[in-house]
Amino acid sequence: MENNTAIVLAAGRGKRMNSSIQKQFMDLGGYPVLYYSLRCFQDSPLIRDIILVAGEEEISYCKSEIVERYGFSKVCAVVPGGRERYDSVYAGLCACSGCDYVVIHDGARPFVTEEILRRGMEGVRATGACVAGMPSKDTVKLMGDDGCISGTLNRDRVWIIQTPQIFSYSIVRSAYDKLQDQDKSHITDDAMVVERNGEASVRLVEGSYRNIKITTPEDLEVGEIYLKKGNYVLTHRKDGARINPALSQLR
Ligand code: C5P
Repeated sequence: MENNTAIVLAAGRGKRMNSSIQKQFMDLGGYPVLYYSLRCFQDSPLIRDIILVAGEEEISYCKSEIVERYGFSKVCAVVPGGRERYDSVYAGLCACSGCDYVVIHDGARPFVTEEILRRGMEGVRATGACVAGMPSKDTVKLMGDDGCISGTLNRDRVWIIQTPQIFSYSIVRSAYDKLQDQDKSHITDDAMVVERNGEASVRLVEGSYRNIKITTPEDLEVGEIYLKKGNYVLTHRKDGARINPALSQLR
């Protein structure tokens, strides 16, 4: 039996949302955005425990208003994050104990599913490192110092990267340990840290075009539409707990 820990990141300040409430705590269909990914990991047989990384000032709110309120019993620690995403990931990694694989996920991505998680776990077992993403629908160009296009990437090879990003704990921990003494500018995801260390090839698996990150107010509108579409609508179980039918069907 594998011991897999999910690290859910919720320590961002979300400047692009133009709101006093951080995006991961904003209301989406009657629940905080953060609720949905925690629900996915709580209900998943693939996950043993969850480490929630939150801003120092939001730790007690997260404990009482999210973890206790919704009964997320797999959350074994709520730890303070850092200034940048990679600082928060490192705080989460340092709080892990005795895990084989670690599933790093943005708390601002509510539409992760059991199916995505299962594909990711299959990928990580093959190489020790795996990230979810989707082929780019758009052409991606590079901008030179002069503000003009300096190149065009072959669209057939361009993927837009999401989370979950899943790694063998020892591989990602040693990559992040080494990063502490290196230049961290331009680090925007965990795969980059592992790629840099060169210990594992990072496998790409399909996430979903719906696995969006709530970043700007328009994303919340899109999220509401996805919820209404039915796949993610939450219904009451007889015992009063709320379940996501999309997840239960997959079990
Ligand atoms: O800022 P960005 O949209 O890339 O954030 C992605 C995820 O990382 C969000 O869930 C956010 O809360 C989290 N984050 C964090 N600590 C930071 C910055 C971002 O936990 N310092």
